[in-house]
Amino acid sequence: MNPIEKLTEAFEHFPGIGPRQARRFVQYLLAASPAVRGELSETIQQLGAHTTQCKKCFRWFVKEEHKSNLCSICASSRRDEGLLFIVEKDADMDNVERSNFGGLYFVLGGTIPLAAEEPQKYIRVHELLKRVEEDAAAGKLKEIILGLSATTEGDHTRLILQEKLLPLSEGLGFKLSSLGRGLSTGSELEYADPDTIASALNSRG
Ligand SMILES: [Zn+2]
Repeated sequence: MNPIEKLTEAFEHFPGIGPRQARRFVQYLLAASPAVRGELSETIQQLGAHTTQCKKCFRWFVKEEHKSNLCSICASSRRDEGLLFIVEKDADMDNVERSNFGGLYFVLGGTIPLAAEEPQKYIRVHELLKRVEEDAAAGKLKEIILGLSATTEGDHTRLILQEKLLPLSEGLGFKLSSLGRGLSTGSELEYADPDTIASALNSRG
């Protein structure tokens, strides 16, 4: 495979990118200067060398040397530890932050496809249950908010998580709520504006 085909195929693996867009990216890079290509490839390498996944919420962040393995949100003492917001991906979490939510997060890493038989293959189910049990055991957890997209897969994922979390909520004494009502059908948290998220949070149930 020549470099043009190889890079086109690499871009096709990106989320939401089809063959035509992948070819346009490659055309752009072919027309760009060697300096632009060099900087891009160096930035991609640095991305691996300087970032790490938070041990608590699983979002990716830039790790400063000798600092903890927790991201700035999980490490902060100013957050409400009683509120746990469950999101699909890092971009959702970044967007919810703009709505002035003051609690903590957990990133699932995606949604569960409709026909999936083993949910844990697609999202961090075990890690979530472990986190919930630890927080509840420490007497911190008051409420879990399920912030899934208002899409078919988002709804499906919410139902499966509710099945797993409801029995725990009774035993461990926390409230289980979901966003959803405030978000219009088909909308994803990543693209909702901060006011919409804030009002969806206020009307959660
Ligand atoms: Zn974190």
